[in-house]
Amino acid sequence: MLVVLIFILCIIAFLFIKCGKIAVHDSFECEGAKVTGQPYGALVRGMIAGIFAEVFGKPFQVEETECIAKDDKRCVFEIRQK
Ligand SMILES: [Zn+2]
Repeated sequence: MLVVLIFILCIIAFLFIKCGKIAVHDSFECEGAKVTGQPYGALVRGMIAGIFAEVFGKPFQVEETECIAKDDKRCVFEIRQK
């Protein structure tokens, strides 16, 4: 429930600034890829891009700038409108 509320608040904030960040803690996808040393959240990245494209009706670019797979504390996804 809290995750849904935070996500809704992010979308509202996004309406005003046209870019934003989403942090994911303990990502199931990247947890098993800690040895790669590279961002590994392609599935989550695609889900975020798809949700934003569906909600706003426009394409979005999502980049994972921090990732637990490269020893960061969390995964951070930056979202920008194309
Ligand atoms: Zn990650």
